[in-house]
Amino acid sequence: MELFSTLDTMGHEQVVFFHHPESGLKAIVAIHNTVLGPALGGLRMWPYRNEQEALTDVLRLSRGMTYKAAVSGLNLGGGKAVIIGDPAQKSEALFRAFGRFVQSLGGRYVTAEDVNTDVQAMEYIFQETDYVTGVHPVHGGSGDPSPFTALGVIQGIKACLQRRYGHTDLKKVSYSVQGLGHVGYHIVKHLRDADAKVFVTDMHQERIDQCVALGAEAVKMDEIYGVNAKVYVPCALGATINEKSIAQLRCEIVAGSANNQLATDACGDELHGKGILYAPDYAINAGGLMNVSIELQGYNRERANRMVNGIYDIMGNIFALAEREKIPTYKAADHVAEGRIAALGKVKLPTINQPYERHFAGRRNGKH
Ligand code: NAD
Repeated sequence: MELFSTLDTMGHEQVVFFHHPESGLKAIVAIHNTVLGPALGGLRMWPYRNEQEALTDVLRLSRGMTYKAAVSGLNLGGGKAVIIGDPAQKSEALFRAFGRFVQSLGGRYVTAEDVNTDVQAMEYIFQETDYVTGVHPVHGGSGDPSPFTALGVIQGIKACLQRRYGHTDLKKVSYSVQGLGHVGYHIVKHLRDADAKVFVTDMHQERIDQCVALGAEAVKMDEIYGVNAKVYVPCALGATINEKSIAQLRCEIVAGSANNQLATDACGDELHGKGILYAPDYAINAGGLMNVSIELQGYNRERANRMVNGIYDIMGNIFALAEREKIPTYKAADHVAEGRIAALGKVKLPTINQPYERHFAGRRNGKH
């Protein structure tokens, strides 16, 4: 990879490689954009096959965080970190070494939980730096973000119902939920509390059983796309909206928590062409990020709930823009995010003060 030309194309500000042989730490932090504020994004530990794969992942994920924070109205930029290694080798020393490196960035990057890292890892990192979120509530942390992500998805689903059917009554339509982990389970709980018809699937039988106990109906993993439900709720892996699945979909709305749901942009165009309303993934699943963002200002659950409920309006604005501009919703979300960064970038640029300073410089020097 030609690193600088890739950074140029993707728009990154900074990429930092950290190496600490004593603890086995090999980490990459990617800071995509700090126009709106410090770059916040999770720390992922993964046994990448090579360094190139790790770098590609962290560049892609950090860019996504910029869009998520921007569309959500947060004063945060986008960043992400990866540790190259087997999650079985996790240790206190490894995370504390990572914490010391994060501290050295002086707050330009703030870390959080992601795949294969948890509250315990954040606690170790917290020993070495303040630039960490998702620490334990006893240390002023916000704990598990998943219930907030789920609440945000429910608000996003309501915005979809409003746009498609002119009401927000969860009970009036049916749902197919794919993936019943931390987020999916809470979504099923909300939907069943509203007495809605819910089909579910997962790789793990005990997770299916938990949801069936709430009144959901189980289907096989490969049947979930073709289920006769109005709303498909992807909460497992990315790229589940692809050529193969689109051919099977019978839903009218796609609205779930999974990251990178569209295998390609063309899949977003195809959903649009078929009249299926797509809730852009990084906008509808921002509840967890909103929740940790409040931790930086002193955690307050009520404020977190209020902010996450705002996802209803954020989605509504994206849909309105998509309709006005006659573009697919995934493009409308990008426009909202890019528009906010561009507008606030102009406000925040130091040059905005310079003309005023120049204007008064003569007077201060006694020259007119
Ligand atoms: P999780 O690992 O707890 O749950 C994922 C579930 O999906 C697991 O139960 C797994 O068995 C199941 N699954 C995997 N492949 C499947 C398949 N092919 N068919 C059916 N089920 C399958 O993850 P999570 O924290 O619940 O997150 C779910 C999704 O939402 C992920 O894409 C994640 O990146 C995204 N997300 C999560 C959060 C959060 O707050 N946890 C925030 C934003 C986005």
